[in-house]
Amino acid sequence: MKPLGLYIHIPFCRSKCRYCDFCSFPARDAERMDAYVERLCRDLTEKAALCREYTADTVYLGGGTPTILSAAQLSRVLGTVFRAYRVSPDCEITAECNPATGSADLFREMRAAGFNRLSVGLQSAHREELRALGRVHDFGGFLRTWEEAREAGFDNLNVDVMFGIPYQTPASFRETLERVCDLRPEHLSAYALTVEAGTPLERMLPKLPMPQEDDVAAMYLGMVDFLAERGLAQYEISNFAREGYQSRHNRKYWNTEEYLGFGPAAHSDFRGVRSGNARDLDGYLRGETIVCEENRPSPAERENEYVMLRLRLCEGVDERAFAARFGHGPDVFFGRLSPYCGGGFAKRTERGMALTPRGFLVSNAILADVVEFGG
Ligand code: SF4
Repeated sequence: MKPLGLYIHIPFCRSKCRYCDFCSFPARDAERMDAYVERLCRDLTEKAALCREYTADTVYLGGGTPTILSAAQLSRVLGTVFRAYRVSPDCEITAECNPATGSADLFREMRAAGFNRLSVGLQSAHREELRALGRVHDFGGFLRTWEEAREAGFDNLNVDVMFGIPYQTPASFRETLERVCDLRPEHLSAYALTVEAGTPLERMLPKLPMPQEDDVAAMYLGMVDFLAERGLAQYEISNFAREGYQSRHNRKYWNTEEYLGFGPAAHSDFRGVRSGNARDLDGYLRGETIVCEENRPSPAERENEYVMLRLRLCEGVDERAFAARFGHGPDVFFGRLSPYCGGGFAKRTERGMALTPRGFLVSNAILADVVEFGG
């Protein structure tokens, strides 16, 4: 049996955050959410026929805000997965959650349905920073959600934070990290804010106090050390975990393993074909095929993709694993990466080569040198 990850997109949120460029719509219409769950379950059931020789070992409900759905709706989606797919007994089953959605009852019912990991979006512990992002919660609301999730039996919790956001300083970011670490999360994801074109945040930018580039770099590098001291070891550019708690689902992306995505904007990499769905919620609800990109990458494209994704991980590219997969060594890539070792941006490891935290900070520029994006 081959392992498979299932990604299920829930494209609804309480309201739209100012920086948001994800596929999410304000959850105003209960009927539409019901219809969406119905459609998802049909889609999951239909595609299961393609997966007879697979066992799902990770399921990830992302969004949007999956916990905007009711316990009955979430249980229905997961119940459909259990009925239609072979699911491993130790399957990692995650749902993303935002403070101010979810409740003690919802979390209890989710645990009973089989969810075993929650990812909670905090972003910042500071009201002013949250407001600038258009987030609707505060730290108190986050704490309640966190405690309710723990009480419901979730012993594998992630918290999302952001750096480089309006009003933020290295000191205020450190305080966010301190308050979060006091809660002993099993996992922490930290993303740099990117201001996407066309978002309300982009329009507001001239009026907002943004941290300087040097401060943002200091926030990132300071965070890597601080979290290590608090037991959260960095394992990927943006991800930190206690031992045994790395995200198994996300590791599939970085290891270029197979996964199937459901819903608008979801992507798949399955049986050698990469595909992506359009952000077409209406089309999806009408039962249309909304695949908007589909290709079978060449071996050269796969090599480049593999190196690009593996260099996101602290362990980097493993020489032997590369050779086992592609039939030759990664010498060409290592040759291009070597000059970065001198400046402390890359390093030789026991098994190959990897970027350092300083390298992660400028990884886009390094990857542009190392990887051929066109294959
Ligand atoms: S909670 Fe996340 S997905 Fe929803 S609007 Fe905010 S940033 Fe977008």
